[in-house]
Amino acid sequence: MTGSKIAVITGSSKGIGRAIAITFAKSDEYSSLVINSRKIEEAEAVVEEIKTSTNCDAVAILGDVSKEEDCIRLIKETVNKFGRIDVLVNNAGIQKDIPLTETTLQDWYNIISVDLTGPFICSREAVKQMQIQDPKGGCIINISSVHQIIPKPHYVPYATSKGGIDMMTKTMALELAADNIRVNIVAPGAIDTDMNLSLRTDEWEREKTIKKIPMGRIGKDVEVANVVDFLASAKASYITGSTFVVDGGMTLYPSFGLDNDHGSKHVFPQDSN
Ligand code: NAD
Repeated sequence: MTGSKIAVITGSSKGIGRAIAITFAKSDEYSSLVINSRKIEEAEAVVEEIKTSTNCDAVAILGDVSKEEDCIRLIKETVNKFGRIDVLVNNAGIQKDIPLTETTLQDWYNIISVDLTGPFICSREAVKQMQIQDPKGGCIINISSVHQIIPKPHYVPYATSKGGIDMMTKTMALELAADNIRVNIVAPGAIDTDMNLSLRTDEWEREKTIKKIPMGRIGKDVEVANVVDFLASAKASYITGSTFVVDGGMTLYPSFGLDNDHGSKHVFPQDSN
């Protein structure tokens, strides 16, 4: 039996967004999902995958979240079609490896508009509906990054966007709690997606990254999706304004860890006297 919830997942044609859509579809909590992308064929492929492998319905809605009119239309078309919106996942994101001094104003705007402004506009529009629907309320999950916490050289606009998502989420959570709207963050560490192509192709880069991860491996998109699925469910009914990091321990200051892999007692210099 399928559930009755309606969810919109931005940037869900591939990577973490696609994994979230498939995980929602398999959960039997949703009657339909909105798959959003700037490329309609890619979104249609995920719709087809959901329809053929689960009991959930899905539709593709084209839209570039860096454009206000597209965000407004994405939410409007969802409401026109399904009459409500229960879950919004602001997942679409881009990044660029570029030193500060070479970062143009256009680079800054490109990244901020997808990673920070898009979630703001989509949330604003979804909340207008969540506040008036019956039953009232809903849930917003923002896909941030460990770089809302850890600074990342060469990624000033990206890290700034993700830091902004942190305060935006907390502020919205406080403003909307009385409307039964929960707003939370899932902050992934290094996950194997196209955004991290170099981790697949560059052995040195992969080893360097793994050294920063206490669990000693790159994460899978579905490991992020499972946490999003939990936060969107009634099991998380008392959680709002929180960040759930999904990072294999990357934010635990791994350089402070034990010097060997087997958990034996750390030897301080004075111990050897
Ligand atoms: P990805 O590149 O595999 O997928 C990004 C998705 O966003 C794609 O579907 C793409 O089409 C879509 N997208 C990009 N710009 C868009 C726009 N303007 N409008 C609509 N859709 C757009 O990346 P991913 O790894 O799946 O990343 C998803 C989210 O997770 C991003 O917000 C990213 O910052 C975050 N994240 C990823 C990692 C990681 O290691 N992969 C780590 C931390 C955070």
